[in-house]
Amino acid sequence: MPESSSGRQVAIAPPEVDRVAASRAAVAARRARAEVKGAVADGTRSPLDVLRVAMEEPEGVEGRLRVTEFLGSIPAIGRTKTERIMDELAISPSKRLGGLGRLQRRRLRQYTAEWVAAHGGTGDRLVVLAGPTAVGKGTVAAHIRANHPDIRLSVSATTRAPRPGEVEGQHYYFVDDEAFDRMIAEGELLEWATVHNSHRYGTPRGPVEAAIARGEGVLLEIDIQGARSVRRAMPEATLVFLLPPSWDELVRRLVGRGTETPAEQQRRLETAKVELAAVDEFDHEVVNREVGDAAQKVVDLMRPRRGRPRRPVP
Ligand code: 5GP
Repeated sequence: MPESSSGRQVAIAPPEVDRVAASRAAVAARRARAEVKGAVADGTRSPLDVLRVAMEEPEGVEGRLRVTEFLGSIPAIGRTKTERIMDELAISPSKRLGGLGRLQRRRLRQYTAEWVAAHGGTGDRLVVLAGPTAVGKGTVAAHIRANHPDIRLSVSATTRAPRPGEVEGQHYYFVDDEAFDRMIAEGELLEWATVHNSHRYGTPRGPVEAAIARGEGVLLEIDIQGARSVRRAMPEATLVFLLPPSWDELVRRLVGRGTETPAEQQRRLETAKVELAAVDEFDHEVVNREVGDAAQKVVDLMRPRRGRPRRPVP
């Protein structure tokens, strides 16, 4: 606090006009938060979408919502249950959604996703497997395709040329730029991205929606930008991040597979560093030490929730 010439502390009141503006802004912010809570309460907005926006913009309307207000607005949770859940998730009552730590965020999202699944949502039927370049997503996905015929793997469209052994309609739909543009324009893609600054890849929407409607599990093996887009389009999707056992192992795998030039390898390693930082945005982490074991962990996340561990898979 500032001091007067006599050395005594004095409180400086803000000018009238600032106070009026500040209280108007506070009223507007409160009203905006009330609208968010109202939309969750009447079912017009998924609580998972509120969480997504709160994590993306911690200082925005959703981010400034207290966790207690958020939980209280979810139909059928109520005040007593909110207190119990806060205890269980180890979140203090004063916390706002935007101020949660990494583990608290994950726990709250998992809790909310389970709640949504138990109340008629699509729940864990759509699982996105993403991770840094060369971590072995493709190998894990191929293992699941070969060993778990009940899980449907989405087949992406891509503008890159087929590699030897790749089969049209099984590994990818290989299309030219014009066809890809058309798919975007017609809204046929659930998400799409330009990967490694070169070719475009996208998930056809129709087969994914049809499989979910039939109650089947669908797995998307896509890049991190794609995972973010899926979260926007379908907030209930479960995002799984595949991690290498160590950074050195990631370098070894990328260099070892010998499919890229040294310049391209360097570029992908730079990308991988940035990509690894995205792990916090995901619901679960699976370390790819051994392909069969990693595949099983992903599959376990797609099975009915009974008996599933509530905490992230180590
Ligand atoms: P590759 O060319 O080696 O088959 O795949 C390169 C990258 O594209 C991988 O990281 C893979 O996960 C990603 N990818 C494959 N299909 C899709 C897709 O439909 N959407 C997005 N966003 N990425 C994809």
